[in-house]
Amino acid sequence: MSKALCHRNRRLKTGALVSITMLMACLQSSHSYAAESTYQLPKSSILKPSSDFDFFAYSKKLHKDHQARHAFRQGVNPQKWQTTARAALKTLLALPESAPAPLNAKLGEKLKCAVVIDKRVYKYTRQEILYYSRPNYPVGGYFLLPDNANNSKAKYSAVVCMPGHGSRVQDIVGLQPDGNTRSTLSADYQHDLAVQCVANGYATIAIESLGLGSRASYSKRKEFPQGQDCNQFDGPLNLYGDSLIGYRVYDALRAIDYLQSRNDINKDSIATVGVSAGGAISLFAAALDTRVKCAVVSCFLNDINSSLLSHIHCGCNYVPNLGKEFRLSDIGGLIAPRLLLIEASKNDHAFPLSGAKLAYEETKKIYSALKVPQNVILFQTKGDHQFDGYEAFKRLKLDLR
Ligand SMILES: [Zn+2]
Repeated sequence: MSKALCHRNRRLKTGALVSITMLMACLQSSHSYAAESTYQLPKSSILKPSSDFDFFAYSKKLHKDHQARHAFRQGVNPQKWQTTARAALKTLLALPESAPAPLNAKLGEKLKCAVVIDKRVYKYTRQEILYYSRPNYPVGGYFLLPDNANNSKAKYSAVVCMPGHGSRVQDIVGLQPDGNTRSTLSADYQHDLAVQCVANGYATIAIESLGLGSRASYSKRKEFPQGQDCNQFDGPLNLYGDSLIGYRVYDALRAIDYLQSRNDINKDSIATVGVSAGGAISLFAAALDTRVKCAVVSCFLNDINSSLLSHIHCGCNYVPNLGKEFRLSDIGGLIAPRLLLIEASKNDHAFPLSGAKLAYEETKKIYSALKVPQNVILFQTKGDHQFDGYEAFKRLKLDLR
């Protein structure tokens, strides 16, 4: 393939639509935000709404008063810091200590597909995939492979793709709600990022996030026909010291196990790519697992104060106790010296560019300590909260081989 592909040209025409789509995606899946009470309080009430009750201000103060225990500090040995910090992060995410469960992976029917990007047709095959990260509860998703009939013995570099909030993983693999395949990239904020990966020549596995699509709770489907709330999954997992984000990250790590089990994959050439809540999974998975050669984190890596504590986010963005132990920039630093490409959009109010710049500068200190400051890149996009891919695919082309 002569050049990296992305939806970039298309995106500029659909900005307004994408903004509305993204807003709906953020607010959907039955999140309920209580309207301010209309209950009339007497003039003398000491319970009237006031800044004294502002929880964001309170939580920001909590954050300010905490020194993150494993934050990277200048002068420490960066490799030793990474070893300690990676172990601490694994504990925060409550990843299993036991040997991995058998994947028992199954692939569905192989379907031939095609997408047109910038007037060029890219052929690929798509299969449903099902595997077990943990015993007794399956992970579903799709496996995409470039349709490379002239080179059946090719070994592919591979990408693990994670969707953000939306209806389901089909949003990023070129599937329409009616089950047909899109012939062009979606205008949705995720822009069929898995299809973009396969069009760029990568074997691609796109996994359904726990709580969405087929991995919403089967018995609650009639009760919540519009989709289920991530918090409905986080709560039960919290009872056992787990978290929704911990489960999702582990699902991504097991997807790498699957890729490495295949004969047609270059085991040393695997990346993670995700946007928004999927960007969080890409970040944490790459930080934990050095099998990941490079990571693209779109619309997530940020200063905690500017993002997670300044806007209403879904609970799946929050790793329990993370603030006590790390800044998000430290998680980025765990990816060093491997390539980390951060996408931040200048009109993204949920994960603002100013906060992304703060985090990038801190992450870069860790890369600098390892003498590879060039391997962390902040790519500023022109849109709002959405996957861009323009610089990401150019860089992946250099790193994945
Ligand atoms: Zn969520």
